[in-house]
Amino acid sequence: MYDIAIIGAGVIGATIARNLSRYKVSVLVLEKNSDVGDETSCANSAIIHAGYDPHPGTLKAELNYPGHMMFTKVCEELDVELQRIGALTISTSEEESAKLRVLLDYGIRNGAQVEIIGQERLREIEPFVTKKAVEALWAPTSGIINPFELVVALMENAMDNGVELHLEEKVTGLRKENGSFRIETEKGSYQARVVINCAGVASGEINNLISERKEAIRPRKGEYYVLDHFPAPYVTHTLFSVPSAKGKGVLVSPTTHGNYLIGPSSEFTDSADDKGTDAPTLSQVREQAFRLVDEIPMQYVIREFSGLRAYHDSGDFVINSPVEGFINMLGIQSPGLASSPAIGERAVGMVGEIIPLEEKPDYNPRRRPLYRVNNLSLEQRKALIAKDPAFGQMVCRCEQVTKGEVVDCIRRNCGARSIKGVKKRVRPGFGKCQGGFCEPLIMEILSEELGIDRNRINYSNRGSFILMEKTKGEE
Ligand SMILES: Cc1cc2nc3c(=O)[nH]c(=O)nc-3n(C[C@H](O)[C@H](O)[C@H](O)COP(=O)(O)OP(=O)(O)OC[C@H]3O[C@@H](n4cnc5c(N)ncnc54)[C@H](O)[C@@H]3O)c2cc1C
Repeated sequence: MYDIAIIGAGVIGATIARNLSRYKVSVLVLEKNSDVGDETSCANSAIIHAGYDPHPGTLKAELNYPGHMMFTKVCEELDVELQRIGALTISTSEEESAKLRVLLDYGIRNGAQVEIIGQERLREIEPFVTKKAVEALWAPTSGIINPFELVVALMENAMDNGVELHLEEKVTGLRKENGSFRIETEKGSYQARVVINCAGVASGEINNLISERKEAIRPRKGEYYVLDHFPAPYVTHTLFSVPSAKGKGVLVSPTTHGNYLIGPSSEFTDSADDKGTDAPTLSQVREQAFRLVDEIPMQYVIREFSGLRAYHDSGDFVINSPVEGFINMLGIQSPGLASSPAIGERAVGMVGEIIPLEEKPDYNPRRRPLYRVNNLSLEQRKALIAKDPAFGQMVCRCEQVTKGEVVDCIRRNCGARSIKGVKKRVRPGFGKCQGGFCEPLIMEILSEELGIDRNRINYSNRGSFILMEKTKGEE
């Protein structure tokens, strides 16, 4: 029997797993996909929101600001990229300026650092903002993060501290049995004293397996454009539209790797598997983005993607325990990423009320840093290559990633097992060629490292093979 079972390994499940790994308890994480963080936590705007958007008095308001501040320590301990570049919410009319004042009031009441700035200061901070901008809400502590790296790092560190991760185990049944829980998956059956539901858009379904109080989570899709990095100076802060009833609106923002994100849209969809994009929605995204910046070099678009918000009718995060020992994380839509460290602390507090939590003397909050060869000086590179020539073998020319880094990300706890797994951890395939050049090399390395045939290597989930069979007979 496990002390705690966590269902879902997105940013919420992984944060809670890591936070619990500090204590003398056994923790099992069950994830339906072949990798962690493959759903909403890898398809969002990656903004560590500063806390001025949620309505004061909501759980979002309570957890956003403290959560976003905790990221400095989390990212330092886990070697995750975080840049506090600051955010500007742009007003282009009197009506929008009135809304900025509402946000300012929310921000002050939520404890966030915010101020309204006029034309001159705005253009000094962000020269690329639209000429139509009249003023802006400036939030200097807002940040951008690498969300792929974050979930992997959280889970790797949790596993380094004893957490067990079972991938490809979709939870299909949950019942109470003699004071503990029986959890059925597609592969097996487990027992745990406490169950934490972190299943994102599927969290309503998990709740409904065990709770009398039924919950509905509606997926609300957001579509984006991704721009390649380019040498010319461009936007260096996150630029937001004034929010509407549908959410925070479209943004234009750099990413931690010098790409640019433009989006998201916000429309309900019927399916939790609907991750497509469509031309009419993207053209609306584009139109709204041009209200923030007069010139957007759309010729640099290298990809489009979408993510699904887990919308609860309350519009708020819902963290509750409808059955003794069963904890729900429902409706964790934006700012769920930014709030995740505070949500993790809240969860540990709730677990501590059910079972005693005693600290482990040997808990290590630090992850072994990544190599990040591209950031090293020539001397540092030479030294590394002298130790292991694989660090001199470039496999991804767009993002400048070496074989040594790919091998390292496969060999760690919570290591990569697929092409997408490698891409999320060390970036080959994120660049202009979108994997055209590096994918066969990554396949080769995965095959060598995992000891499996090349045509059994998956792109992402089980069965997503790239090579199917020989086309020209036996060699
Ligand atoms: C378009 C968009 C933009 C956003 N932008 C931001 C932003 O800029 N800043 C911010 O703070 N937040 C943002 N968010 C919100 C943020 O991404 C989410 O709050 C966060 O990722 C939710 O994490 P999660 O772990 O709850 O869900 P998920 O990442 O979806 O994880 C849930 C996990 O549960 C697994 N699972 C589901 N069912 C089962 C089952 N039956 N058995 C086992 N496993 C299961 C899934 O496979 C998945 O891995 C955005 C969201 C979207 C969609």
